[in-house]
Amino acid sequence: MALKTSNEYFARLKNMKPNVYASGKQIRRDDPMLEKPINVLRLTFDLAQDPAYKDLLITKSHLTGEPINRFASLNFSIEDLYKQQEMKRTLCHKVGGCIQRCMATDTLNAIGVVTKEIDDAKGTKYHDHFLEFLRYYQANDLVGSTSQTDAKGDRKARPHQQKDPDLYLRVVKKDKKGIVVRGAKNHITMGPYVDEHLVIPTRALTEKESDWAVSFAIPADTEGIKLISRITSARPRINLQAPYNDYGVAESFLVFDDVFVPWERVFMCGEWEFAGSMALTFAGFHRHSYCGCKPALTDIIMGATALVAEYNGVGNAPHIQDELTELMIIGELVYASGIAAAARAEKTSSGIFRPKFLYSNTGRYLAGINVYHEYEILVSIAGGLPSTLPPEEDWLNPETRPYLEKYIRRNPEVSPEKLHRLYRFISDFTCSASCGWAQHAGIHGGGSPVMEKIGIRSTYDLESKKEVAKYLAGIKD
Ligand SMILES: Cc1cc2nc3c(=O)[nH]c(=O)nc-3n(C[C@H](O)[C@H](O)[C@H](O)COP(=O)(O)OP(=O)(O)OC[C@H]3O[C@@H](n4cnc5c(N)ncnc54)[C@H](O)[C@@H]3O)c2cc1C
Repeated sequence: MALKTSNEYFARLKNMKPNVYASGKQIRRDDPMLEKPINVLRLTFDLAQDPAYKDLLITKSHLTGEPINRFASLNFSIEDLYKQQEMKRTLCHKVGGCIQRCMATDTLNAIGVVTKEIDDAKGTKYHDHFLEFLRYYQANDLVGSTSQTDAKGDRKARPHQQKDPDLYLRVVKKDKKGIVVRGAKNHITMGPYVDEHLVIPTRALTEKESDWAVSFAIPADTEGIKLISRITSARPRINLQAPYNDYGVAESFLVFDDVFVPWERVFMCGEWEFAGSMALTFAGFHRHSYCGCKPALTDIIMGATALVAEYNGVGNAPHIQDELTELMIIGELVYASGIAAAARAEKTSSGIFRPKFLYSNTGRYLAGINVYHEYEILVSIAGGLPSTLPPEEDWLNPETRPYLEKYIRRNPEVSPEKLHRLYRFISDFTCSASCGWAQHAGIHGGGSPVMEKIGIRSTYDLESKKEVAKYLAGIKD
């Protein structure tokens, strides 16, 4: 049975060799610090068992015909791309933010596309390696990281120009059995709670940089791998439990201290001409994912804004209605870009459908530059209370609770507990470490806004627009 339960996933994590470091010490993967981040991944298994979500979360493996989790699938149609987007929006609502598991889905699709292109051009066997790995990944319902962003060192220097060549992950040895890699990938989401790290290049490379042109999959606890992690979880609650507070996330410096990778798990080694294609193909898939998850964040901000205005008794105020409409426009335009990217997807030589790069970039860009603006709308309409609300302990203290209940009142129809819950949620959502994390992720995850602009320009047919202007101006060359 290819579909696993969340407990089976967690049991795998518990059995891994410890190579995770957090808050100054080595931890095991069942450390309580990781509980909330792991809950996010658990949900992707639990909902696959829930009849209400099966259609969204389960699809068929193109390799075996067996039901598999959609997060482990490749996109073989426009409909698959639509479903991916809808699944991300739906699941992000459930956890109040990033669902995380889409990263590997996008990487698998990118590796699937580009390994076929390399094989077609060079007669290599990478696509076979990939399909064999995918068969194993799907059969065990695995979770993977996307390990793309290198340490990168001096941003103005190329990989071969860095003082320390390890600042981009590279191949330091090859033999009959496999390769040895050294370097680090930074910012890696889910690092401490994945089964596999899926490694791809971060940029286009030149002929001098073939040692840096490398892609592979490696079990997360392989010898030589170290994960130095930062964990960000929603604030704990004492009595007033709320779904948002059950979740978290962790990123890692993922260090490869001379790690051996057997050939059958290598998907690119030295084919520098294809590094850019692998990097951008992943970016295209992942920015398409953002066209599903970022509207979910807008939905959460919009819902909280509308509710707090209603609880304050000012829900119908024209300026608030205006701000809510702006949120609707941002969220739906980003989503529409994703739909357009899927509708105009291209069937690649592997059979995988690649979303139209232009539209996944426009959607991701629009989402990125509006992140702080969206929070600004919620914060301005919520007033100052999310940042000044006394802690839950004071709510629970019989001496102070009556005062809090009396002086939190707004719309007389709304109970103090509802007000308290909503303001505490907005506080946790907009005035916390989790909020800072979400804002940074909203800007940089999948590539900073400047990267989307570069992506848009690089494929845009500007000449045709000049021709239109020439025609209207009566200019003949
Ligand atoms: C919360 C979060 C989660 C993430 N998760 C993952 C993950 O799971 N896997 C993964 O691979 N990556 C992940 N990332 C990394 C993300 O893709 C990068 O943060 C993003 O691509 C920007 O790279 P950087 O952080 O190294 O910034 P930098 O490269 O330092 O760029 C910062 C800014 O510097 C400027 N700049 C950089 N280089 C140049 C140049 N050569 N010329 C001119 N200007 C330049 C640009 O203005 C750019 O916006 C994550 C990031 C965040 C914030």
